[in-house]
Amino acid sequence: MSKIAIYPGTFDPITNGHIDIIERGRKIFGKVIVAVANKTNKECLFTLEERVDLAKNATKHIENVEVNSFDGLAVNFVKEKNSSIMIRGLRAVSDFEYELQIALANRTLCEDIETVFLTPQNKYLYLSSSLIKQIIELGGSVKEYVPNAVQEAIKNKI
Ligand code: ADP
Repeated sequence: MSKIAIYPGTFDPITNGHIDIIERGRKIFGKVIVAVANKTNKECLFTLEERVDLAKNATKHIENVEVNSFDGLAVNFVKEKNSSIMIRGLRAVSDFEYELQIALANRTLCEDIETVFLTPQNKYLYLSSSLIKQIIELGGSVKEYVPNAVQEAIKNKI
C-alpha cells in the first residue's frame, strides 16, 4: 500500500516509542509525516523549532519520513497533505480513553479521516516524554529510551 499517513503529536521530545510507531506506520503506509503541534495543552520543555529539529535528527535514517510542524487542527493538516490517515500510538490501557476521545472528535470534525492506532514493542509500552524528563532531572540515564542527541538536549535544558 502506498499512501501518506500523518502522525501528529507534541513530541516533547521524540522518544524511541514514537520512533517505533513511525517505523511501523511507514511499513504499512509507505510514507509518514510526523506533525509536531505548535499549540498543545501541555507545557513544553522544548520550543516548536527544537521539537521539530530533534524529531528530524532522530528519524533521518528512516526512508520516506518527513517532519513538519503545524498550527491549528490536526485534521486540517491531514487534509492539507492530501492524506486521510492519522496515526496515533496506543500504549497501556491508560491511553485508551484519551485517544478514543480524540479520534471521535476528529471524526466529527472530518468524517473522511481515519485514525489508525499502532502499538510499540513491549519495552516502550510505559514510555512517555514526561517520564524521560523526570528521570533525567533526577540524574538517571535514559539511553535505552531516547536517541543520544535527545538525551543530551534534555540534559542541557534541565
Ligand atoms: P500528544 O500530546 O498529542 O499526546 P505525544 O507526543 O505525547 O503527543 O504523543 C503522540 C502520540 O504518540 C500519542 O498517540 C501517544 O499515545 C503516542 N505515544 C507516545 N509515547 C509512545 C510510546 N512510548 N509508544 C507508543 N506510542 C506513543
